[in-house]
Amino acid sequence: MSRVRAQLVDWIRRHGPLDVARFMGLCAALRGGYLERGAGPGAQGDFVTAPELSQIFGELIGLSFIAHWKALGRPRAVRIAELGPGRGTLMADLWRALGTCQEVRAAVRSVELVELSPALRALQAERLAALPVRFRSAVEQLPQDLPLFVIANEFFDALPIHQYLWIEGAWRERLVALGPEGGLAFALAPWPAPLPPPQDPSAPVVRELSPAREALAAVLAERIVQSGGFALVIDYGEPELMGDTLQAVHRHRRVDPLDRPGEADLSSLVDFGALARAAASAGAEVYGPLAQGRLLARLGIRLRLARLVAEAGPGSGEALVRGVERLLDPQAMGERFKALALVPPGAPPPPGFAAEERWR
Ligand code: SAH
Repeated sequence: MSRVRAQLVDWIRRHGPLDVARFMGLCAALRGGYLERGAGPGAQGDFVTAPELSQIFGELIGLSFIAHWKALGRPRAVRIAELGPGRGTLMADLWRALGTCQEVRAAVRSVELVELSPALRALQAERLAALPVRFRSAVEQLPQDLPLFVIANEFFDALPIHQYLWIEGAWRERLVALGPEGGLAFALAPWPAPLPPPQDPSAPVVRELSPAREALAAVLAERIVQSGGFALVIDYGEPELMGDTLQAVHRHRRVDPLDRPGEADLSSLVDFGALARAAASAGAEVYGPLAQGRLLARLGIRLRLARLVAEAGPGSGEALVRGVERLLDPQAMGERFKALALVPPGAPPPPGFAAEERWR
């Protein structure tokens, strides 16, 4: 039995079944668990992310930071933050793009990296050695003294969710308990959860709720309202969710969420409506969710691609094109991934978002 599985079984024996949120949290945080292993994104890791597909992704976010910095009247000192920087690729690309405007680079007082995985922190420190990096364990630790420019790509999807199943006229929370053989098995809470009934009670329904994600969106919004700047959240998800979207990925293959606890990456679709409501209640103006493909198109991805292909010369341009196609393709990441932006009340819309795309 793997180390994490043994700890989970022991935990359940002592304290009873886990809800799915607690299960996700423990798979990440336990000794030998996912954060300690730090596999994460990339070809050698468990899953592919946009910055690992194309350098243009991080570059365009950097250019959007420059544009918004100009729209804010070129503040003389700012901070940049990334939530869950993975292999540090996005920040490396973003920083390079910031270099096209020395005035912005000179204004950056620090690059704040919110990361819990010691293994990934080491990798980020190495790759971003030339940047004024500071590590943080939580969004609450981000300094509030200067305007903050935040990017969070595929961060919210990793935060824990609760799942509820509509069965015989009641919502039951999904639990992880011990199966007949002593291994892990899904179970249902014996008591109903006090949630409003589904719109269509005849369809089989699963609801996912994430206090962790909503709380984080609210804290992020408070920070932005307080210190100024903006936050860009990109993730896969929908404006509203219905169904079981929990997934486990190990070395680029889907596995059963209970099969490789602590070894597989656990995530689920992001409920952008819930994030937007939480951020708006905390006082931020919210834009989006906007399809990733549309945002990148507006930020000039085609132009940047053409330039890179021309510079790359014959042969090597093809891989650049393929990466960008995957970012834009509605069947790949173009539609499934969405962007949400938070700004303080009265601030100009963030780059790539139109005034009428303000979340109602
Ligand atoms: N943004 C990167 C990596 C996405 S993977 C990219 O696009 O490639 C998710 C990242 O969030 C990893 O770096 C992971 O270690 C980190 N992470 C996950 N849960 C976290 C938490 N609760 N607090 C801080 N970092 C977390």
